[in-house]
Parts: sequence; C-alpha cells; structure tokens
Amino acid sequence: MKSVALLHASQLVTLAGPKRPRIGAELSELAIIRDGGLLIRDGKIDIVGPSNEIEKKAGDAQIVNAKGRVVLPGFVDAHTHLVFAGNRLDDFERRARGETYEQIAKAGGGIWSTVEKTRATSDVDLLAQAKRHANWFLKCGTTTVEAKSGYGLAVKDELRILRVMQRLNQESSLEIVPTFLGAHAIPRDSSPDKYVDLVINEMLPRVASEKLAEFCDIFCERGYFDIERSRKILTAAKKLGLKLRMHVDQLANSGGAKLAAELGATTADHLEKTDEQGIAAMKTANVQPVLVPGSVYALGSTCYPRAREMIQAGLAVVLATDFNPGSSPTPSMPMVLSLACTQMKISPPEAVTASTINAAYSLNRGDKVGSLEPGKLANFAIFDCEDFRELAYWFGLPQTHSVYVRGERVAGF
Ligand SMILES: [Zn+2]
Repeated sequence: MKSVALLHASQLVTLAGPKRPRIGAELSELAIIRDGGLLIRDGKIDIVGPSNEIEKKAGDAQIVNAKGRVVLPGFVDAHTHLVFAGNRLDDFERRARGETYEQIAKAGGGIWSTVEKTRATSDVDLLAQAKRHANWFLKCGTTTVEAKSGYGLAVKDELRILRVMQRLNQESSLEIVPTFLGAHAIPRDSSPDKYVDLVINEMLPRVASEKLAEFCDIFCERGYFDIERSRKILTAAKKLGLKLRMHVDQLANSGGAKLAAELGATTADHLEKTDEQGIAAMKTANVQPVLVPGSVYALGSTCYPRAREMIQAGLAVVLATDFNPGSSPTPSMPMVLSLACTQMKISPPEAVTASTINAAYSLNRGDKVGSLEPGKLANFAIFDCEDFRELAYWFGLPQTHSVYVRGERVAGF
C-alpha cells in the first residue's frame, strides 16, 4: 500500500460538509484547517487533520511538505469544449479591431472554421492537441473537467471527438467527463429540421449504445436550436439514459432556463440573460446554474449573469471556464474566480465552492472529488500563497506550485 503524507498547508481548504451541493450561506463555509495535512493511502484520502496529528500517523509514508502554502481540492471545471483543432487567432484580432460577429463569419471565421479544421485533422493530431489542452488545465490546478463534443457536426466526426476524449481520459491524469453536443450549431450544408433528425436518429443512438457520453447538451438559442427543437432532441437523449446540460439564455432570454427546469436538466449554463422567472424555475426543479464569466469577458461584453440573485434564491451555483477557441480561450479557474469576484459580486469563498464541490455534484462526481474528505480521491493543488483569497486577488499571476491526482504529482513548477 502506497502512503503519502501532505503536511503544513497554511490553509487546507477541505470543503468538508453535507453530502450534496452547497446553497446559500453554505457556499461560504470552506471548513479550512490551519497548518493542515492529509494522509493518503492508495490514491485516496484516509485522514484529514492538523499537520501534527497527520505526522504522528504518517509511519513510512512519503512526505509532501507544503511549507506554508495553500492547498485546495483540484478544481472541477464543469463546462469545457476541450477537443478541437487549431485556434481562432484571426477572429481574435478582427474582434479586437472592432469587427462584428457577422463580419468575422463572412471572412471565414467563427465556429464553422473550427469545425472544418477539426474534421480535417487526423485522430493522432487531434489527440495530441487535446493532450496539450489537458496539460494547461492541470497546470492551472484543475483535475476534473467536463468536455463537450460539437466541432464535428456529422455522425462520423462527433463520434470521433468522443472517442478522442475516451483515449485522453486513459492517457492523461486529467479526468474527463464526456458530454455529447452534436446540437452545437446547424451545419452549413443542412437545414435545421434535417439536422435535428440526424442528431436524434443517427447520432444519439450511437452515442448511447457505445457509451461515449454521460450527458447530452444543446445550444438552445433563437436562430440555432429553438425551444421546440431543443425539447425534441433532449427528450430523445433522456429516453436513451443520458443526463442533460444546456447552453441557454446567452444571447437572449428565450426561455431556456425554464426548459431546463421542465426537462429536469442537471445544469443550465451561461444564463447571461435569464430573468427572475427563469431563476425561480431552476430552483423548483433543482437545476444547477453553471456560470461562465470567461466568455462574457473575452467577447468584450459586460452582461454577466445575475449570480447574486441566484445565490439568494438558493441555487447551487457552479463556476466554469467554458474553455473553447472562440469565445473563452482560457483553461484557468483562478482567472474565472477573479472574474466572479470582480464582475459578479461572488465572494472568494463562494467562488471556491462553486468551482470545486458544487461543480463535482453537477458532474455526478460529488462522492469522489471536489472536497478533501476521507474516502475521496487525493486530487489537490498546492498554490504559492498563504491565503486562498490570493488566487482571485492577484489576477493574471500563475500561482500553481504543484498538482496531485490520486496522490501522484502530475504538474509542478
Ligand atoms: Zn460552452
């Protein structure tokens, strides 16, 4: 049996608490142990407590001395588009020069350019690029991510992306939770109804029978997949045993949050334009809101979701990066914490809860990751600071010291 003793964390941020997503005042309760430590056996947390107690029980365990640094559970990023080819640097420059989304799309940019690049990239190259992205997440202190397909938009290519995720999960230390997002956009060479039929009749049955995804997601927005088409696709997904996540109310308040409640979705994501009725509907159906301020920031918008109202309404808020090449090219959860605190009036402890334990529950992993408690995986990150609030405060400064997955060091500086 392999043992590791982590000692002398200035703050061991455990997030120990009720075995469910945290709401209201619970979001601020981090259960911090000063000069804390962990005893790890076979990749799992055995004992959590003050360093002097852990040291007494350490025996011949390998010692990891945090030397007065902060230790957090590995971040859980519940909304990413991790597998894609290339980048959108030209779009980025055009947007910086003031061009609109329409002008950029006309010049050959936008989501379609990523679809074309992804389709044209070999499996080997796509996996190599995905591994590079996975390492970025680990370097930022994230140890579990949800990852969506959606840059294939054809049966063969959507399945291929999900298989790349499967391989990535085996070959990388980063844990990947796969989501099928065939309904990300309507391909140029198809009509909306024809494409909805393809998703329902050909993609979903294959995804379900080959067990390639745990969740089904959709881009529910007028002009993309409207409420009716979204209901049709998600109802079919649900019948096949997939759980639901949804991109809703990003561009307009089109009733997406309410549809998420009606369908019993696990999460409703984005929510920049969701109003109090949408918030109330989510509360009634226990839908977790996943807020992605990185995409608001990177698009140069100032319309952030009503996070404070959601917390006051008792929703189990989650924060995520929405990592993607177009609207949110960041794998950094510390950057998201900074945006949450400065732009959405979420406090630093609330932001930490939203990006760890609440995110873990939204991915059906609340019993395994997201907090430092006995029986859970020893996934944690050591940061070069003494107070966890520094992560959101010194924005833009990499503070990761080292990252551990199942008790093994997987990234460090
Ligand atoms: Zn997204």
